Parts: sequence; structure tokens; C-alpha cells
Amino acid sequence: MSVNPPIAMLAELTHRCPLSCPYCSNPVELTRRDAELDTATWADVFRQAADLGVLQLHLSGGEPVTRRDLVDLVVAAREAGLYTNLITSGIGLTEKRLKELDAAGLDHIQLSLQGTDAEMADRIGGYRGGFARKMDVARWIGEIGFPLTLNAVLHRQNLHQLPRAIEMAVEMGARRIEVATVQFHGWALLSRDALMPTRDQAREADAIVAEARARLKGTLVIDYVPADYHSDYPKRCMGGWGTTGLNVAPDGLVLPCHAAQTIPGLAFDRVQDRPLREIWYEGRAFNAYRGTDWMPEPCASCERKHIDFGGCRCQAMALVGDAAATDPTCIKSPHHAALQARADAFAAGEAAFTARAAAG
Ligand code: SF4
Ligand code: SF4
Repeated sequence: MSVNPPIAMLAELTHRCPLSCPYCSNPVELTRRDAELDTATWADVFRQAADLGVLQLHLSGGEPVTRRDLVDLVVAAREAGLYTNLITSGIGLTEKRLKELDAAGLDHIQLSLQGTDAEMADRIGGYRGGFARKMDVARWIGEIGFPLTLNAVLHRQNLHQLPRAIEMAVEMGARRIEVATVQFHGWALLSRDALMPTRDQAREADAIVAEARARLKGTLVIDYVPADYHSDYPKRCMGGWGTTGLNVAPDGLVLPCHAAQTIPGLAFDRVQDRPLREIWYEGRAFNAYRGTDWMPEPCASCERKHIDFGGCRCQAMALVGDAAATDPTCIKSPHHAALQARADAFAAGEAAFTARAAAG
């Protein structure tokens, strides 16, 4: 099998974050501050990534702004020739720091939205006053002229705010909005009863996105991750395992996707121990589900196997206890009907959500 170089790398600089979103994609076992890679190691990882063929670097977390060396890290990434995107809640950014990041060469900002008003956003993010500060940050981003993507994670409690989230993206001058229905891994799995959208909400969101895409063509690009428990086919997770991107965790573990550590038995390499190039091409975890040879039926003989690569391995693990199984969100999975029934049952629940914990 021929393996292409990765296009994008997600650098999780830290798991520390002032917010506590219940759907956070960080692992439930958070990395402590004293285990985070230092500035020089990250800079070396960025050079190795560029040498490997990576073009886009997503600086993420946790909240990457909590890293005091963020400006230095942007400088290092730009020197390596990488396009840099900062993924942030905005909390902790000042106008002065944004100007420093601009001077350092930061190319793009992706701002997360927990809700479209203070009541919702501050409750979901667990941070009073966060929405007002985020609105200040959005204004400064516009004034400085950073290209902006708004990133709205939607679930049963805030899906009714989708039309306003799209309006806000236009008002902020964003070029793109990512409308992502919550994915149930890690923290979100603990709050499935509280966050699962209803089937009607999922269908309504499909219609709202379709209408907005037609109306705002040429003004705003809308990327959309639908509610997959209520869908017929799974998403093409990470563009295919080990196909286009890799993640580096705060402690240097190199992962095929952010939830890969939930799959027992996979061995992950660390950037401190092995060159990134070797990890990408030869690492056992990257080769475990790369391509299509590993697939069982019905995926092995399915005409969609090069479209979705059998869906999400972490989801198959979480839902049926087998990472090599067909993603049960697929209509061809023997577990699909039971999953849809469970999704309806979760969506009818009244449970409170579990806030993400703070990293030590
Ligand atoms: S999802 Fe929320 S808690 Fe998790 S890193 Fe992002 S802002 Fe922080
Ligand atoms: S059977 Fe497998 S390859 Fe076919 S659509 Fe379902 S998940 Fe995708």
C-alpha cells in the first residue's frame, strides 16, 4: 500500500483550559502541565512536520492561549514554513496579545462558540462572563484583519440557536463556520443523555444548513458535521485513518486522531523517542487501520469503502467494543437499528451534563 504524507497536524499544546465544556474532545485522563512538551521540542516537531510534508498546523488544546510561549511557537511554525491556525475559545486573549500573534505571522483564527447568548454560552462553558469576553475578542480579530472561522458545537441544549450562530458568523465577517453536532467520545460520552439531539432536531439542522448554504453562497462557507447517531452513513473520520492528518498530544504522544487512546492495545510513539517521519510511515498505531485491508464485512465489499473508510474506529470501539467493526452509525452495520433506538432513548433523557475537569 502506498502511503501519502500528511497534510495537516493538530498540535495539542496543552490540556489546560479555563472552560469546562461537557463535549470537550480532550481525553478524560488529562495531561498535567509538568508533562507538556517545552518550546524547543515543539519547534523541532514543527520542523519535522514541515519536512514530512505537512502544510497546515492547527494550534489547539485545551486552550492554547494558556501557553505563555504561544507567540514563540507561532514564530517557530512560520519559520518552518507552516500555515498556522489558532483554535481558541478566546478566553485569555487580549488585544495586545492578538497584535503580537499577528506580528509573529499567525495566519488564521478559529473561534469556538458555546452558545449565541451569555446565558447559554456561560452555562455550557462553565465560565461566567466568558461570552462577553469572546465578543470582545471577535471584535479585535475583525479589526486586526485575521481570517476567521467560527466553530459552533451543537447538541440538544443549544441546537435551536443554530440560525443565530450562522447570523453571528456573517456579522463577525467570518469566512467559514463549522457547524459540528457533538461527537460522542471522551467527555461527551459521559453526558450522552444530556447532549443527544432528538431526531427532529437533527432533521431541522439539516434543513437550516441547506437553506443557509444556498442563501449565503459566496459570503460564508458552512462545514457541517451532522448528528451521526441519526444518520444512515458514518462520517469519513480524519479523512481516513493515517491518511491526511496526525495529532500530537501535549506530552508528545503522536496519535492518528484525538480519541485514538480509547482503543485498547494500540501502541503510540512519542516525538521524544522516534522521528515523526518514522512514526507516520512505520508506527504500529498508524498502520493498524490504514487503507482498506483491515476491513471486515460488510465494509470489505462495500462500494463506499473508499468514501468513508468504514467510519470512525473510536466510535466502533465505544459502541460495540471492537475498533475493527463497521461503525454502527452505518445502516449496513448489524448494530445500526439498536443504536438508533438508543439514540432516541438518550434524547428523551433529562440528565444533567458532566462538566470537563480542569487539567492539573
Ligand atoms: S472544548 Fe471547551 S473545555 Fe475543551 S478545550 Fe475547548 S474550550 Fe476548553
Ligand atoms: S459498510 Fe462500511 S464502507 Fe460501507 S458505508 Fe458502511 S461503514 Fe462505509
